[in-house]
Amino acid sequence: MTPNRVGIAAIGITARGVVQGVGFRPFVHRLAARCGLAGWVENTPGSVVIHVEGDAAALSRFRAMFRSEIPAAARVTRLSVRKAAPTGVPGFTIRASRRDGIAFSTIPPDIAACPECLRELADPADRRHRYPFTNCTNCGPRFTIVASLPYDRERTSMAGFPMCAACRKEYGDPLDRRFHAEPNACPACGPRLSVRGGDGAPVETDDPIGVATRAILGGSIVAVRGLGGFQLAADATNDDAVRALRVRKRREEKPFAVMFRDVASVRAAARIEAADEAILRSPRAPVLLAPARTRSPLAPSVSAGLPTAGVFLPYTPLHRMLLDRTDRPLVMTSGNVTDEPIAIGNDEAMSRLRGIADLFLLHDREVVQRSDDSVVRRVGRGIYPIRRARGFVPAPVVLPRSFPDVVGLGGELKNTFCFVKGYAAYPSQHIGDLEQAPARDFYEEAYRFFRRFLDARPRAACHDLHPAYFTTAFADRAGADRLFALQHHKAHIFSALADTGFDGKAVGVAFDGTGYGEDGAIWGGEFFAIDGMDVRRAGRLAYFPLPGGDAAVREPWRTALSLLRETLGAAEAERAARELFPGVPPDSIRLVLDALEKKINVAPTSSAGRLFDAVAAICGLCARSSYEGQAPMRLEGAAARAAAGTYPFTLAEEDGQLAVDWSGLVRGTVADARGRLPAGTISRRFHDSLAAAVVAAASRLAESAGARHVVLSGGVFQNVTLLSRVLSGLRKRKLSPLIHRQVPANDGGISLGQAYYAAAQVAGG
Ligand code: ZN
Ligand code: ZN
Ligand code: FE
Repeated sequence: MTPNRVGIAAIGITARGVVQGVGFRPFVHRLAARCGLAGWVENTPGSVVIHVEGDAAALSRFRAMFRSEIPAAARVTRLSVRKAAPTGVPGFTIRASRRDGIAFSTIPPDIAACPECLRELADPADRRHRYPFTNCTNCGPRFTIVASLPYDRERTSMAGFPMCAACRKEYGDPLDRRFHAEPNACPACGPRLSVRGGDGAPVETDDPIGVATRAILGGSIVAVRGLGGFQLAADATNDDAVRALRVRKRREEKPFAVMFRDVASVRAAARIEAADEAILRSPRAPVLLAPARTRSPLAPSVSAGLPTAGVFLPYTPLHRMLLDRTDRPLVMTSGNVTDEPIAIGNDEAMSRLRGIADLFLLHDREVVQRSDDSVVRRVGRGIYPIRRARGFVPAPVVLPRSFPDVVGLGGELKNTFCFVKGYAAYPSQHIGDLEQAPARDFYEEAYRFFRRFLDARPRAACHDLHPAYFTTAFADRAGADRLFALQHHKAHIFSALADTGFDGKAVGVAFDGTGYGEDGAIWGGEFFAIDGMDVRRAGRLAYFPLPGGDAAVREPWRTALSLLRETLGAAEAERAARELFPGVPPDSIRLVLDALEKKINVAPTSSAGRLFDAVAAICGLCARSSYEGQAPMRLEGAAARAAAGTYPFTLAEEDGQLAVDWSGLVRGTVADARGRLPAGTISRRFHDSLAAAVVAAASRLAESAGARHVVLSGGVFQNVTLLSRVLSGLRKRKLSPLIHRQVPANDGGISLGQAYYAAAQVAGG
């Protein structure tokens, strides 16, 4: 057709969000060609701009197909369509983009291998047959290979691999699936695999994946250089291999993620539904926490007693080939010693993972941005993030309005930081626990990267109230004009507000581990009255004395003892404790009771997380805890499926605040535990009762504030058994719950809340 005949019309489309580096322009080009339309498409900073013209029927066909066929890896956050004047251009072109001044948002997150690339990988006739670094505009490494901006090959770790003639041709052809695919590569010009022994000595082979496969099948642990860093791979059906990995990695009981060849093999190990399958197959390919099957091919030590499995699918061609050839599920865990950042460099891995890995499967494409695998749960039909990194970062959270540059520095554990710039908040990848120097180095490195590439000039930085957090000390070096300190649980609430985009009156519930409170107490079971950006504490779990120090965190029976003493009195508490904690020496029980009596190293707390710790200990599920959150996870894992009645609770008023009195809950669990009721029954009763208490307290506060929404945040809401009961309870009372969908409810989400708060403060004058 000739586009400039009479009767033609034109439209302009602007798409914002993650729309660059994800095959958007070739997609538009192909669509325009199919519809017989003329015009152009171009990248501008932060958006893709499209102009199409032709007859009206073709234009409406284009619009309909456009919406339904947007590339899977794209995330369009705003789409505007407007009438435009026809220009009479002949044909359709992809216009060269202005490369200068392109915003940070143009670096997309890493994208799981697409079906077309996987087809080529398996096709003996294709020139990329069995080539582990194949990728295209729809898939492949992105964020993890970027060293600087703008995002093009010279500024990625692909710079050292000049394209061969065949690759160059694909790269330059707008109709090719590899048009402007920056990491485009083939066996002739791209990265290569190599193998080293556990001692670092080179292993000569023309089949590195074969060598790795045989090692894994023989029970060895293989360090694999993946996308965001090294992973440790072991046969997930071999209990000896998995146990050895635990010992060497110094990871006693925390569950391992397992990679499966396909969805069918996931189903053998975990109960998943269609919505779970969609999450597993998505371009972000996260680890999904799903209910484990009791009869499963997985070795018992993979999940170490928890009824949950972390499952995911191969997301690079290398993983695909490893899984195809081993043909069994593989533990794929971060390549590190517990609590350290993931190793990324070949030499770094060979020194840090020496003694852990028996073999190294290496390659020569550098990992530039350290990024762990992301972890999610499913709530309703959508994802509920637990750890946000590879596949998600650096995609922004879009804010309801535009703000000056600010930064939230994050918490101490599960740390992330977050820059706000304009409409976008950019949470960093999961950094980890900042108690050790290597993690702090990682923090500073990542912080500098984000700051430089966002060209951020933070007008303010926001940190936690806790004086001893690393990030509180770092605030002085953050390069910001002003500093704000924000209470931990308020930050959780602001995080949920930014995540959901909610603006108005609401009740906030932050159920969490522990955070430094404004009154000097240790907060963690908090209710807030929200009015826009005004967040005030309105209620809490009733305070109880928390035995201090790390010992109480590692040994939940200490916290339980305090609750026993509060509800039963010291003498009866001692008797109950001896009965309930037979493994604890009577002297230790007496010692803790003494400390509580004399208030030595004891602080008042309203922590919901500690309440869970205590109840887990009372049920005999976790006298000792080997990792953060183990006791609550065990308690959730034990909960019986059938409802079994509830324990009483009361709502009281204490110094102008609503206080949830938990003593009935504790009395009930203790009586049941001493009566030898199964832990599953007690756990179920406790979950149902606490959920009922949350719903009752939130409803009362909502009524007095005239609010209809309830915002839920804090690490305790990673517990979906509790969460789902709170959600249904609130809905029964005609209240609308709002939950996290983009950042974790745990401390990984704190930085977004801090940044959002500081942004509003600065914007408000
Ligand atoms: Zn692809
Ligand atoms: Zn090539
Ligand atoms: Fe927290």
